[in-house]
Amino acid sequence: MTKFSKIKLYNTLSRRKEIFKPIKKGFVGIYTCGPTVYWYQHIGNLRSYIFADVLKRVFLYDKYKVKHVINVTDVGHLTSDADEGEDKMEKAVLREHKKAEVIANFYWQEFKNDFKKLNIAEPNIWCKATQHIKEQIKLIKKLEKKGVTYKTSDGIYFDTSKLKDYGKLAKLNKQGLEAGKRIEIGEKKNITDFALWKFSPLMNANGKLLPKRQQEWESPWGVGFPGWHIECSAMSMKYLGEHIDIHTGGIDHIPVHHTNEIAQSETATGKKFVNYWLHGDFLNFKGEKISKSTGGLYTISELQEKGFNPLAFRYLTFITHYRDPLNFSLESLQSAQDAYNRLKNIISELKNDKRISRKYLKQFNSAINDDLDVPKALSILWKLVRDKKAMGKIHTIKEMDKIFGLDLQKKEKINISASIQKLLQERENARKNKNWQKSDELRDKIKSLGYLVEDTPKGQKLKKI
Ligand code: AMP
Ligand code: ZN
Repeated sequence: MTKFSKIKLYNTLSRRKEIFKPIKKGFVGIYTCGPTVYWYQHIGNLRSYIFADVLKRVFLYDKYKVKHVINVTDVGHLTSDADEGEDKMEKAVLREHKKAEVIANFYWQEFKNDFKKLNIAEPNIWCKATQHIKEQIKLIKKLEKKGVTYKTSDGIYFDTSKLKDYGKLAKLNKQGLEAGKRIEIGEKKNITDFALWKFSPLMNANGKLLPKRQQEWESPWGVGFPGWHIECSAMSMKYLGEHIDIHTGGIDHIPVHHTNEIAQSETATGKKFVNYWLHGDFLNFKGEKISKSTGGLYTISELQEKGFNPLAFRYLTFITHYRDPLNFSLESLQSAQDAYNRLKNIISELKNDKRISRKYLKQFNSAINDDLDVPKALSILWKLVRDKKAMGKIHTIKEMDKIFGLDLQKKEKINISASIQKLLQERENARKNKNWQKSDELRDKIKSLGYLVEDTPKGQKLKKI
């Protein structure tokens, strides 16, 4: 493959596709906002990690050296992204009566299991917020020195009115926000100001006395815990430097979380924080973002219990471009699974002619390098498998699967149940006795149970329908 070809990426900052230029030749640093580990991640969350995985694969395919960092939020993320409500981890502590660290490690491990099932490569670095308290305090001190912080009775806040370009990522209209100010801002000076450090609260918003927090630390400002946004600024700086190539997340992070990360990082360093901001659109359910009230909060394990292959979910996410919303339903997942199985069946029949199709590979490359146009790449793959004249299918598909990560050429190990094995044995006996009618009846019965039987010189072969 050509080295370092032109990769175009849609940058939320400029609202257009740009040709990627690395800070350091041949190297790309990627930071992906990670999970809050108070509960299982749902398939909506996982869509955004599949998108980040494809991004990384595109760079690796192009022979870049990639350093990928994902954080693990195990403190400070309140029930609303805008510093309101209770800490999600502390709520989990009350729900599960366990140590916060035990809860965090459990859901983090579940998340890693999902990565494995979905063929998402683990990052080079996982970093937990609670293991970087020192770095976060240091960064807040730096911001304090720059004169952009102030203290209220519940914490240390970032004064967003001190920045001329606050909200540039989301193109926030601050005047509009201030004019339409209906939300209670309490002691905050501006509606967009956000917490850097929170003092351990004694009471919740309704005046109810709260139990002592499990996770709290000494700081120059008092005992408490870091705000949610500061962890990403501090940890991306530590592992990728002050100026990084790419930062990813879901579109919900644009107006608050990523906007605040930019404010903190750029004020502290005086440098541009991120060159390319990439955001994945939502996985929806009944037309709305998956949520408790809308529904659709499935986990991968729940889909498996319903008989779905996790890679069929990966395939489903490839039907729509990452920047478009994708509606999820069990029916659409079933169609994706059928298509995925059909594709694998066709591929399993191909003969290896030891060649490669430059024509198809070229089309494929230009699709994936055009802002990760995976739906187009998938249609090129289908065209290739259906093209009766095309040569080099096996090796070309092998190359393509480096991006898809769909195990397209991996032979399925079929776990044949005892009852199907019995039917196969009966059919073999019927065939030995030349009882073709019985043999055909048994074939139909096995088919109704979801398997095709083929008679090969080596005996009966099963294939999942
Ligand atoms: P959270 O654990 O809530 O911080 O979310 C983890 C990641 O999933 C973030 O990048 C979110 O933007 C993303 N996300 C949350 N809900 C959805 C959804 N329904 N569809 C796609 N991405 C989502
Ligand atoms: Zn983040």
